[in-house]
Amino acid sequence: MVRRCAIGVDIGGTKVAAGVVTADGAVRRVVQRPTPVQQGVEAIGQQAAELAREASLRAAQEGYAPVGVGLAVAGQVDVRQQRIVGATRRFEGWERVPLKAVVERVTGLPATMDNDAKAAARAELRWGAARGARFAIVVTLGTGVGGALVVEGRVVDGARGLAGHIGHIPVQDDGPTCACGRTGCVELYAAAPGIVSVAAEAAGPAVVLHDAGDVWRAAEEGQPWAQLALGRAAESLGMALAGLVHALDPEVIVIGGGLSAWGESWRSRIERAVGARVMPAFSGRFEVRLAAYGPQAGIAGAGALVLEQVEGGDRHAPAAGGTIREP
Ligand SMILES: [Zn+2]
Repeated sequence: MVRRCAIGVDIGGTKVAAGVVTADGAVRRVVQRPTPVQQGVEAIGQQAAELAREASLRAAQEGYAPVGVGLAVAGQVDVRQQRIVGATRRFEGWERVPLKAVVERVTGLPATMDNDAKAAARAELRWGAARGARFAIVVTLGTGVGGALVVEGRVVDGARGLAGHIGHIPVQDDGPTCACGRTGCVELYAAAPGIVSVAAEAAGPAVVLHDAGDVWRAAEEGQPWAQLALGRAAESLGMALAGLVHALDPEVIVIGGGLSAWGESWRSRIERAVGARVMPAFSGRFEVRLAAYGPQAGIAGAGALVLEQVEGGDRHAPAAGGTIREP
């Protein structure tokens, strides 16, 4: 029996990964390579297409029929136009790359794309920690802070498909400049590089920090500079999320991304920070959960995007370049 599947591709700043996403949300046969940042954005697009093709060959070997390729893309994606409209410095010129067309040409499959954090949220909504929720906030904490809002059981795209950039909610009226060009964004305090830089400044030059994991371990050991940085991260997230809770009235907030690996104590820390800032009417009326998907959230979410379109649930499936078809 041939079973239907999607190919999910996650294009991030450090690696590009592709895998087979089955109808029940399992991710299998993952292939990945480092993102060829030095070779330019065209090479990144080409690598994503080749990994998608490899994953689709592996799917066929296992008796799966891929119905399309989903792309979870770092950067700002206009989902209606199916175009990249903004990116960080690692992806200089990313807007020029006709990613959807490149992937369709190499794989022979229809492709569709969305921002990586929004894609991850689709996986949590369909199969994971936000399953069954009508109103939810999904926030991903990693190299940046990303996210998505769920309204009436659907991931919100916004007027141009740019909704969900939770990381750039301002929580300070000054401070360092963000990659987005503004100051005071929550990402500057709650994403891994921000945590490291706040900690490094507080610790002084005698302490060498490689990543946010070093800060986490130092905080566990009771180092005050590390606790200060993590406190700053939690309080900043608390501010941004409390604002969203007031605006959305969610049932659940899902914490995903690499830093969600810090687990229950980090989850409850964020829960307390949000809880301390919401109006009494919201107090205790929403749950804060850890994401069900770890590093494979982007792949799973890209697959969910394809499966949603196959099921006809998509309100604005791309018109040009082939729509997703039944096998
Ligand atoms: Zn910003």
